[in-house]
Amino acid sequence: MQTKNRLLIIVTLMLLALGIATIINVSLNFRDYSINSAVDKSKMTANLVKDGLTAHMLNGTMDKRAYFLNQISNTDDVKALWIVRSQNVIKQYGTGFQNESVRDVIDEKVLATGEEFKEIREKADKILLRVTIPYKATAEINSPNCLSCHDVKRGDTLGAISMEFDITSMRNSGMFTILKILGINLLFIVIVLFLINYYVTPYMKLFQNLQDGITKAYSGDFTHEFSTSVSGDGREIVNQINTLFRKMQATFGDIKYNLGTFIPQGCVSSADPLHEAKTIIGELSDIYKFKKTIEIDASKAVVYSRITDVLKTKYKIANFSFYEVNNITSFRKLIYISEGESICLDSVNDDASLCRAHRTKTDVISTEFIDLCKTCNAHDFKYICLPFTINNDNSLVISITANNVNEINKINAQLPSIKNYLEAAKPVIESRILMDKLRETSLKDPMTGLYNRRFLEEFIDQFMSQAKRSNETYSILMLDVDYFKKVNDTYGHDVGDKVIVEIGKVLHDCIREADLAIRYGGEEFVVLLYNASEEGTLNVAKKIHSAFANLIFEVGNGETMQKTMSIGISTFPTDGDTIWKCIKFADTALYVAKTTGRNKIVKYEAQMSDNNNLR
Ligand code: GH3
Ligand code: MG
Ligand code: MG
Repeated sequence: MQTKNRLLIIVTLMLLALGIATIINVSLNFRDYSINSAVDKSKMTANLVKDGLTAHMLNGTMDKRAYFLNQISNTDDVKALWIVRSQNVIKQYGTGFQNESVRDVIDEKVLATGEEFKEIREKADKILLRVTIPYKATAEINSPNCLSCHDVKRGDTLGAISMEFDITSMRNSGMFTILKILGINLLFIVIVLFLINYYVTPYMKLFQNLQDGITKAYSGDFTHEFSTSVSGDGREIVNQINTLFRKMQATFGDIKYNLGTFIPQGCVSSADPLHEAKTIIGELSDIYKFKKTIEIDASKAVVYSRITDVLKTKYKIANFSFYEVNNITSFRKLIYISEGESICLDSVNDDASLCRAHRTKTDVISTEFIDLCKTCNAHDFKYICLPFTINNDNSLVISITANNVNEINKINAQLPSIKNYLEAAKPVIESRILMDKLRETSLKDPMTGLYNRRFLEEFIDQFMSQAKRSNETYSILMLDVDYFKKVNDTYGHDVGDKVIVEIGKVLHDCIREADLAIRYGGEEFVVLLYNASEEGTLNVAKKIHSAFANLIFEVGNGETMQKTMSIGISTFPTDGDTIWKCIKFADTALYVAKTTGRNKIVKYEAQMSDNNNLR
């Protein structure tokens, strides 16, 4: 409607400007016309008087001229009329009648110069036109020969006629004309405005209607029914838009519904569903690509690193830590931390149930309550901890920190989307965990829980090439129980098995996490000590040796048994350039221990290999 009002104002102003211009033009022209016609009338009168006086002169009735002049003076609009004589005429014929003498300076000036004078005198109530026209002596053939009666030269001024015309009525009629024009203009403006209003209003209503419908469409509502009183093209357009909107409503409704089923949590919220649909499709496409990528990733670690990358690059989250929780043992393992230390107390690593997010399985947002998580160490940061369950045995926790509430709110808004990625990764992580488990069981000895020989065969080369690159060393202990066959033979296999299980425990207790213990076969074990000094190696060997020797086994009937073991030691890469060589050298040292009395620890020496029996 604003547009219509603006249009009406513009048209009104234009018509008013046109009217005013017309009025100014007419009034100026009318004034000129009034004055010119009065001047023409005065000239005509002057000629008439001149001819009349000449006729009187020629007829010798000059003394009767007063009547003639009176008659002329009585003409309408002629307010005053008088004639004056020049000095030449006065000299020759006298001053004439009393009213024929010079009345003012204008008369004098015209007589002196012989030039016509005209002046408009405007007063409040009337307008006067003063005209004074000189009479000049003529001697032409077709005109009276003035020189025959007057002692003057041709062209001399004989006298002048002065007239005053009242042109007030002309002004009044001019004003009246202007008022009429003004009236007509105003009437014209009213008619034009009425017509514009009459013809434009339906279009304006149509525009308003279109605008309302399009505004609704912006928010995804295509139910608006357009209507118009305009016929022809306007109605055609309305019908077409109605058809289009009905199609949009049907199609768009379906799309929205279908997209909603893809992303149940509604990862985006927008007042513009088209934009929402675009965002959801973009999100689905990203998640699809993510899923396709991780499905062919080799390990769980790589999948975790993808999740980390998504958090860093897509969501631009700078500070976060990512944990994997074993639901059975409640042990929490750090997978990734962006920088600095974890915001959780150390105790959470050993008992993940202390983690509020993990325990309650709900998002923990620090801005929701003061000191929300009691095991959180971060008092200067805001945080969001996001738990995610993979299966009965495993869960994830992502702990995100930010410096201010705004940043936390922004991350909070992204949580549904982040969870979509985790949901996509869930089956892949689950299958990788299962694979790891299967692999682990195939690489571990079920009786002792130690790695088996297969593990050594599969992975030892990787360990050793890494060790070579970083100048790391491994000390190799080869252990074998002395006279083990006797145990089986004397007390049975069950007791023998018990001994083997106990060796597993001894090894587990005596070595560090970086070390590896392997059940090499039967009652033979290999231990790899990472970066251990000669002295340290010996100490561990002694510790194992004495711990085992101190074990007391019950063998039934209240009887007990104690056993000893022999240990051979070699060092990689000091003794040999491959681990297999070193294992063999440890075995050689073990053989030496066995053949030189058993129950001892023997360090490999190069000359041992010189002995043909030991090769
Ligand atoms: P030595 O001092 O020379 O080592 O004498 P030894 O009797 O211990 O001889 P050896 O190391 O060759 O003995 C290996 C025996 O260990 C053979 C086998 O009967 C026994 N054995 C291997 N695996 C197991 C097991 O899983 N359980 C039990 N009970 N016995 C096993
Ligand atoms: Mg043995
Ligand atoms: Mg043996």
